[in-house]
Amino acid sequence: MFAWYDRHGRTLPWRRRWPELTPAYHVWLSEIMLQQTVVATVIPYFLDFTRRWPTVCDLAAAPAEDVMSAWAGLGYYARARNLHRAAQIVCSDHGGLFPQNVEGLRALPGIGPYTAGAIAAIAFGQPSIVVDGNIERVMARYFAVATPLPAAKADIGALYATVRPDERPSDFPQALMDFANAVCTPKAPGCPGCPLADGCAARQADAQRDFPVKPPKKAKPVRRGIAFVALDSDGRAYLQTRPERGMLGGMLAFPSAGWTDADQAYDRDDPSASAPFAADWALAGRPVAHVFTHFTLDMDVAVARLARRGDGPEWQTVRPASLPTLMRKVWDAAKRA
Ligand code: SF4
Repeated sequence: MFAWYDRHGRTLPWRRRWPELTPAYHVWLSEIMLQQTVVATVIPYFLDFTRRWPTVCDLAAAPAEDVMSAWAGLGYYARARNLHRAAQIVCSDHGGLFPQNVEGLRALPGIGPYTAGAIAAIAFGQPSIVVDGNIERVMARYFAVATPLPAAKADIGALYATVRPDERPSDFPQALMDFANAVCTPKAPGCPGCPLADGCAARQADAQRDFPVKPPKKAKPVRRGIAFVALDSDGRAYLQTRPERGMLGGMLAFPSAGWTDADQAYDRDDPSASAPFAADWALAGRPVAHVFTHFTLDMDVAVARLARRGDGPEWQTVRPASLPTLMRKVWDAAKRA
C-alpha cells in the first residue's frame, strides 16, 4: 500500500508525509470540512480558514458571524457552530493544544469516532481505527463482509485493526483513502492493476460491486416551502440570521416557511400568509430545488419590491458568498423574476 501511496498519493494542503506530522489543527479542520463534502470543494475553504485564522486560538477568538460567513456554501452548518465551540474549548481548556488521544478528542463538540481516530493517527501517529466511507468500501471488498451497513461497521473496524501495519501510522489511513478514491472506486474498481488483488475476497469471487452490502434504499420525502425576498428602493434585501438550532442554523437567510419542523405552515393557496410582513408578494416562476440528506425540497420564491427604503439592520446588500447554497439559489431565482 505504501509503495502505491508514495507514487500515486494526492498532494493536499493539509497533508504531510511520515515522519513529519500534519498539525492537529489542520487535520481537524480538514476532516470536519470533508464530512459529506468532496476534496475539490474543501480545498479553497481550508486555505481561506487557515489564512484568516492561522491557529486554533485565532479561530476561537473570531466572531461567530465571521466563521459562519466563511463557512457559507459548505453546507451542514452545525459543523461550523461545533467547529467554533471546539476551537474555544481547545484554546481555553487545553492551552491551544488538541488532546492526543481518541477519548479526549471525542469530548470536543462535533468530533465522532471516525474524526477522533483520524486526528489521533494523522496528527499524533497513534494506531487508532480510521474507517471512513472509502476505507469501509475497501475493507468490505477485501474481506467480502456479508453483513449490510451500518451493522457491519464494528466488524469492519476490527478487520482494519488486523491489517493496520506498525510502520507509518499517520500515512496508512491516508494511503487507503487515496487508494479507495483512485483504484477501488464505488462503481468501477480497477482490479486488474490493484496491488491488493491477490488477497481480495470480493475480487476472487468476481463480486466486487456487491460489497459493501447496503441496506435497501428508502425514497427521500419531498417537502415544499417558500422563501420571501423583499427588496427596498436601494436594492437591499431583507435578511435574517436563522436560529442557532435547526436547518441552516446561525446562517444568514431570506425569511422562509413550511420546510422545517419549526416553521410556520405554508399554505400554497395563500402564499403571502406566511410572509414576514405585508407587501405586494409575487411568486417567481418555478420553485428552487435543493437536496438535503433526509429530504428533497421544492422552495417557492416570493418577491416583493418596496417603493421605500427599508428600516433596520435586516436590510442588507446581498453578498451571495455569505449565504448558504439554498439561499443563493433563492436569490438567483428572485433576480430572474
Ligand atoms: S481487487 Fe478490486 S475490489 Fe479488491 S481491493 Fe482491489 S480494486 Fe478493490
